Amino acid sequence: YHKGWTDLNRNGRMEVYEDQSASVDERVKDLLSRMTLEEKIAELNLVPYYASQDSAVRSKIRQGKIGALLKANGAELNRSLQKEAVESHRLGIPLIFHEDVIHGYRTILPVPLGESCCWDRESVRKGAALAAKEAAAAGIQLTYAPMVDVSNDPRWGRIMETSGEDPVLSAALAAARVKGFQGEDLKDKETLMGCVKHFAGYAALRGGRDYQNTDFSLRDLQEQYLPPFQAAVNAGVETLMCSYTSYDGESVTMNRFMNHDVLRGQLKFEGLLISDWTTLSHAVAEGAAADGKEAACRGMNSGLEMDMASSQYSRHLLDLAKENAVSADDITEAVRKALVVKFRLGLFDDPYAYFDAEREKRTLLSQENLDLACELTVPTMVLLKNRDEALPIEKPATIAVVGPFASDKTNLLGRWSMKGQTEEAVSVEEGLKEVMPEADFKVVGCKLGELNDAYVSSAVAAVRESDIAIVCLGESAQNSGEAVTMGKIELPQDQINLLKAVRKCGKKNPSGKLTQTFPRHSGQIPVAYNERRTFTKIEPGDLPEGPSSRSGLD
Ligand code: BGC
Repeated sequence: YHKGWTDLNRNGRMEVYEDQSASVDERVKDLLSRMTLEEKIAELNLVPYYASQDSAVRSKIRQGKIGALLKANGAELNRSLQKEAVESHRLGIPLIFHEDVIHGYRTILPVPLGESCCWDRESVRKGAALAAKEAAAAGIQLTYAPMVDVSNDPRWGRIMETSGEDPVLSAALAAARVKGFQGEDLKDKETLMGCVKHFAGYAALRGGRDYQNTDFSLRDLQEQYLPPFQAAVNAGVETLMCSYTSYDGESVTMNRFMNHDVLRGQLKFEGLLISDWTTLSHAVAEGAAADGKEAACRGMNSGLEMDMASSQYSRHLLDLAKENAVSADDITEAVRKALVVKFRLGLFDDPYAYFDAEREKRTLLSQENLDLACELTVPTMVLLKNRDEALPIEKPATIAVVGPFASDKTNLLGRWSMKGQTEEAVSVEEGLKEVMPEADFKVVGCKLGELNDAYVSSAVAAVRESDIAIVCLGESAQNSGEAVTMGKIELPQDQINLLKAVRKCGKKNPSGKLTQTFPRHSGQIPVAYNERRTFTKIEPGDLPEGPSSRSGLD
């Protein structure tokens, strides 16, 4: 029981909603009965926090206009924002802090597509639990994860957030991540509430072009896109995020078939439905709604409950309710779900329990977390071919380490790496030197895109003087993530030229198996192992070979 409320309870009585011995349902019902419609609408307003707008956000909090914040990080900062909320609200309603905790928080794990290559639910669960432990210590209570979209298009930057092309594996890992984030008990201050996303069919983007049009059948929805959502719901995920995209021509944010019939009717999801970033405003920009008021009206009537960052609900729901364009009961029902989330997390019992700067300091990037991250990462590494049985490297040797990723740290963390710090990453060179202290290394690194002739000759010279060559190739982290689409997915020719020197690396068993088919040419996309069988298969006539490196499912 939070002592700040003793002052608020001037009559010295503990109200039902403050009483920990009452059930969540009773407490929410009691609280709702005390709230005005305006106070209720504020609970649906999810607002981003930027340090540059600190005083504006605090003033909105004091006016009771914000129910949840995203992008506010750190035990101290969030404690002070929470204090602002709890002490100024007539009913002492606490804030909840959301964040994108996707593959680790400060200790960084492989990007989800990489992580999926371990094919191991338990490992993936432990990775999510590790991310939750760190983020919760930094004052976060809810993560926008797992992302469970299923894509066949490697040109789409966000494919890195998926678990590969197979709906069955994606479903299994979705459930594992939900369990990892949420743990056994949401009141445990080392866990996060999950928010599964993006509902649904985001990955059906044409040409992998982010935010653009999707076109897919009801059968695709059922077979390809929904299974991981169903698995996450069955695993107990408490919240869910809508996709930016459309289903059958109508923005999902305002799509009653999706948000009501499919989500509630078919998947039996009972939790809170959150929009994606400013989607109620996007609807206007796209010409799908005449103005913000219409978007808010259609959003609420479709079953969308919380508005992320567009302020359209806070601007228009009161008027819409007065005009009977939306029902006050629907608003109350949405607020009920938003409050259930806060009660389940224990925020009404101790609104400050998450904000402990000492715990934050001892938890983030602790040796224990680093060791676990390392243990979980090795089995995700994919060995496509052990040519001439080059691995493992048994004896100390002279080893050339060349290529743009020999010493690079800036691209190692991947996109969505939250509070991960480049300087805390371990480069290939550093890692090798640590595990093979007796070996003699000749490291010739270079920057991505700068493999000129002089560089190639110095790399080759180092390789000639060595027993083993490790060529470190790859793409910039900026080639993946949100708002990114690639036209070419091949390695650049200058990197391909270095490949011939590849011989040996590593001591551990890279036992991962691909979850995503790698086409040889962009022209083969879309390509997946489980394409519907047709009476004959016609491959592009101008490409020399068919797909290679089929996923482990093939
Ligand atoms: C992304 C979501 C993300 C949200 C909040 C959006 O642009 O599509 O995946 O959770 O921003 O950062």
